Amino acid sequence: MTRQTLSFQAEVQQILHLVTHSLYSNKEIFLRELVSNASDACDKLRFEALDHGALWEDAPNLEIRVFFDKDAKTLTIRDNGIGMSAEEAVAHLGTIAKSGTKEFLSKLEGDKKKDANLIGQFGVGFYSGFIVADRITVLSRRAGAVPEEGVRWSSAGTGEFEVEPITRAERGTDVILHLREGEEDFLSTWRLKSIIAKYSDHISLPILMKKEEWDSEKKEQVLKDEWETVNKAAALWTRAKSDVTDAEYQEFYKQISYDSAAPLAYTHNRVEGRTEYTQLLYIPGKAPFDLWNRDKRGGVKLYVKRVFIMDDAEALMPVYLRFVKGVIDSADLPLNVSRELLQESRDVKAIREGSTKRVLGMLESLADSEDAAERDKYAGFWKEFGAVLKEGIGEDHANQERLAKLLRFASTQADAGVSFADYVKRMKEGQEAIYYITADNLATAKSSPQLEVFRKKGIEVLLLVDRVDEWMLTHLYEFEGHALQSVAKGAFDLGKLQDEEEKKKAEEAAESFKPVLDRLKTALKNRAKDVRVTTRLVESPACIVVDEGDMSGHLSRLLKQAGQDAPKSLPTLEVNAEHALVKRLDSDERFDDLAQILFDQALLAEGGQLEDPAAYVQRVNRLLAA
Ligand code: ADP
Ligand code: MG
Repeated sequence: MTRQTLSFQAEVQQILHLVTHSLYSNKEIFLRELVSNASDACDKLRFEALDHGALWEDAPNLEIRVFFDKDAKTLTIRDNGIGMSAEEAVAHLGTIAKSGTKEFLSKLEGDKKKDANLIGQFGVGFYSGFIVADRITVLSRRAGAVPEEGVRWSSAGTGEFEVEPITRAERGTDVILHLREGEEDFLSTWRLKSIIAKYSDHISLPILMKKEEWDSEKKEQVLKDEWETVNKAAALWTRAKSDVTDAEYQEFYKQISYDSAAPLAYTHNRVEGRTEYTQLLYIPGKAPFDLWNRDKRGGVKLYVKRVFIMDDAEALMPVYLRFVKGVIDSADLPLNVSRELLQESRDVKAIREGSTKRVLGMLESLADSEDAAERDKYAGFWKEFGAVLKEGIGEDHANQERLAKLLRFASTQADAGVSFADYVKRMKEGQEAIYYITADNLATAKSSPQLEVFRKKGIEVLLLVDRVDEWMLTHLYEFEGHALQSVAKGAFDLGKLQDEEEKKKAEEAAESFKPVLDRLKTALKNRAKDVRVTTRLVESPACIVVDEGDMSGHLSRLLKQAGQDAPKSLPTLEVNAEHALVKRLDSDERFDDLAQILFDQALLAEGGQLEDPAAYVQRVNRLLAA
């Protein structure tokens, strides 16, 4: 390879522009990012060296050094980790392989605080160096390569960078920041130490800086040629709980999650027994931008005996808990464990079950807390992650009962926060089932004709408007012995909630109404499998219901939106024999138009779409003009 000048990938150019022009607060995080890259590089070396001992060369002690040169105005972060070849430097420091860059850019553009912290969230930490530097030079050599295969990478953070070969005896990387005018205060041992203490204390490698000493002649601090370790250099989760402060737990969360908000809860345990491991798990307060991507890997890092093995080890958490962040450190797994092996390991299964229980336990203690502030936290959690937790009802049968207690809904009595237990407490004398309705949104749900009789009788109905609800209901049939019953499915039967007189009246109406029903059935034979009289309506003339085993209109619409075929089965039209419109049907010569309109309106009321809206409009207009 010879000296080359290359252009940054377009996305990188955009990021660089934003980094250098719009991040003003929390500038100091560049050091966290560069130290974290140095630490990652050491982790990678340790991992690759498991199979290739020669990579250690003759330097078995992994470490990070931070030092500066006041005259040259440079700050250097040095590691003796895996290093980079010239090709890797071009690829890793000139392009971004990850998805999410667009989201990052739009978030950055929209952020009023111009918070540099955002950068870590999107895995483009290296470029944060340009917040404080107007040139970055990287000197590197990959572990195991000959000294002549070193590389010098350099850029002013605008459109281009240069690479050229160099000879470098030591493996690993120097990142040299040429500080911008005005950023000289980073050339201070005290300042750098305090940033490292704030962000990088838990890094399990030693971070070394030069000792400083007071020179009484010069009357200033001077650097000695002696190095000292400036961080605790013990992974936080390996420390005893009693030795870790709440502030340290909080800070650690920020580092692994890049979330600037505090976590809702965390748990730290050493688990002993058949399989031994340490877990440190956090529940975030805010959903990440890609929560809905079920392929996204989990947020739990796997370590084996303190050696970092992999990020996002999805086998450690069920998919429905993919928002959980943290660390699992196993004492039993082999160091060379792969993702495939993880899927099959019995130890991993035990870890996943144990961790799932812990997370559910954390949620339960928030949800059931005596303390209103804790319960508020749960309400906040539910808003952000409730729909994801619902996936667990179908995915995790072993914990279904515990999960069902954690569910919260809107209902005809409260817009949010109703649990099954709350509902059961408010059930009417003689009520056996838990009633619900599914709809596309709260407004449609609330105005459903099917709710009319429930309103009249003061019976609460749960309003289920999340996309996952229908799916969830195919896995959940009851809560503590009370069947879950859709108010839009099956023949209407309130059992003991209806008195004899009401039932008799309904039967009589059905009898005397039979000729009209027969005419309606004929008129609607292509649209409804049956037409019958109902007592579930009070104000509306008609509504649509489906059979117990059939798919609700809401679900078949969801399937259609997702591009899937919904099995075609006709619904039943129920009519309110007490309604003026229905009463005069029989004597009206426009019977056919009225029958179709009745059906169309019932469909519209449940949020459905008309197959032929123009025909509907024409029919209504004919009536209006008459
Ligand atoms: P991330 O760390 O999330 O991958 P960064 O922007 O911080 O993103 O770094 C980009 C890439 O550059 C890293 O993934 C790594 O391959 C490479 N890199 C950065 N710093 C170092 C280093 N000190 N040693 C080896 N490789 C590094
Ligand atoms: Mg990084």
